[in-house]
Amino acid sequence: MASFTYARILCALLVPTAFACTPAPASDAGRSDKTLQPATTAPNVPYRMSTDLRRNIAESPSWTAPQKPFLIYGNTWFVGPRGLGVFLIASPAGHILIDGGVPGDAVLIEANLRQLGVRLHDIKWILNTHAHSDHAGDLARLAADTGAQVIANAADAALLERGGTDDPQYGNRFAFPPVRVDRTVADGDVLRLGDLTITAHATPGHTKGNTTWTWTSCEGTRCLAIVDVGSLSAPGFHLVGNSRYPDIVRDFEHSFAVVAGLPCDIPIAPHPEMVDFWERVAKRKQHGADAMIDPTGCRAYATDARQNFEAELAAQQTPR
Ligand SMILES: [Zn+2]
Repeated sequence: MASFTYARILCALLVPTAFACTPAPASDAGRSDKTLQPATTAPNVPYRMSTDLRRNIAESPSWTAPQKPFLIYGNTWFVGPRGLGVFLIASPAGHILIDGGVPGDAVLIEANLRQLGVRLHDIKWILNTHAHSDHAGDLARLAADTGAQVIANAADAALLERGGTDDPQYGNRFAFPPVRVDRTVADGDVLRLGDLTITAHATPGHTKGNTTWTWTSCEGTRCLAIVDVGSLSAPGFHLVGNSRYPDIVRDFEHSFAVVAGLPCDIPIAPHPEMVDFWERVAKRKQHGADAMIDPTGCRAYATDARQNFEAELAAQQTPR
């Protein structure tokens, strides 16, 4: 069965509305790819992947594993590789893409978009959750290929534009192709694209500009709160006396509270396992689309992350 047909059938089964099943809008029909402006975000220096990033990707095969795109709910689609949350929010006025995988994932993401019938130049905005190589790794390529505006939290913009170098935790170990940020957001900013409304919640700590994005997706009159939960982990992070990020503990504590308190019907995440995403997807065979709903998911993730963080903090505060 052709994959496009698969997507249509899946869509027809889950969402019997032309709106949600037809991601490609007609707003700029007839615009040919030739009219796209030359990419201003394309890296102007050759990119060479570091040994550390190469190893990291090799040790995480799901980050580059193909995954058929599918509808999560309403107008929200999963379009990433199996192991990284890359999401499409579709609308007749143009689409929003969130995150861009590791360097090289653009090929897979763009193939998924085409499989859904999405024209690349109908992606108007590309948002980022945070400026690390597994979520911002191929944003430059995606921006170049779509002509979309890249939007990120102001506190991560510089890190994105220098391709993740001089990271407060990782230094230059996981550099990715630099990407120009066209527009920045701050905590609480609400972005509107046609009928789409998406809110940026600053959840700093994992990076200074780490962002949780929230929006509402509807099927008929049933509208649910979707939350793309920003990462709240601190793997090997320098938490005590970090001169590069003196407020890191305060920021993490703030972010745990923010995520725990969000209205949250369907939690999704940059790393799907953060919110047991695939377990819920598997249950859809039995329970239908409602299996994706987990109103406790955001709070559970924040509680878990806080416990891990506090254990790590206590260990770092203990004199050796
Ligand atoms: Zn990260």
